[in-house]
Amino acid sequence: MTAGTSSRTPGPLVLLVEDESQLRRFLRPSLVAQGYRVLEAGTGEEGLLLAAQHVPDVVLLDLGLPDLDGTEVARRLRQSGAAAIIVLSARGQEKDKVTALDAGADDYLTKPFSFGELLARIRVALRHASAPDPTGGSEFVSGPVRVDLASRRVYVDGAEVRLTALEYKLLGVLIRQAGRVVTHRQLLAAVWGPGNTDQMQYLRVYMAHLRRKLERDPARPRIFQTEVGVGYRFKIEDR
Ligand code: CA
Repeated sequence: MTAGTSSRTPGPLVLLVEDESQLRRFLRPSLVAQGYRVLEAGTGEEGLLLAAQHVPDVVLLDLGLPDLDGTEVARRLRQSGAAAIIVLSARGQEKDKVTALDAGADDYLTKPFSFGELLARIRVALRHASAPDPTGGSEFVSGPVRVDLASRRVYVDGAEVRLTALEYKLLGVLIRQAGRVVTHRQLLAAVWGPGNTDQMQYLRVYMAHLRRKLERDPARPRIFQTEVGVGYRFKIEDR
């Protein structure tokens, strides 16, 4: 329940909802050392209360909590405000993880995760919270891929690549969420409509198209990352 400060300008506020005190003891000082302010809750109820009182920028939410179902906490956090939610899940909680993401969590990490990975996910989540649509400008660039959003033209290493309307639509959903995981269900609903969220084969076929057209080596995809059992992530890369 303690807030830490390491600099004069208050950093983003992180709410850590986690019943493992060992993990909290490690994460709190590490996050504070990076300039974040940190609030801790050991239960879901406490987490919801602190979120309502302090309006955190990011919530790190353990799915295995002693009182409430973590997916229920994610749903209630999402209803009450715009904080980014990053789910922390243990192996064997794949289904809960996907449910939490479909309920509005922004991303997830599977335990054990590295601290560097956590920091990267927090940065992406904060960027999306401050600018919900990273494609707000006229073009989107990541690694070899450049998308001219006005003309809907796509280039790889400067050479134009022709995409079908459906391929472009799928790419558009992924780049609007760039850096974050998008679940199978979310992708299917956004591209093929809410009635087609079970049509996994559509997604597999069209992801293969995008990889073939946009990856330098489609057999070793770097841009369109598979999140096994969850969905896909458009990886942000520097040029
Ligand atoms: Ca736990």
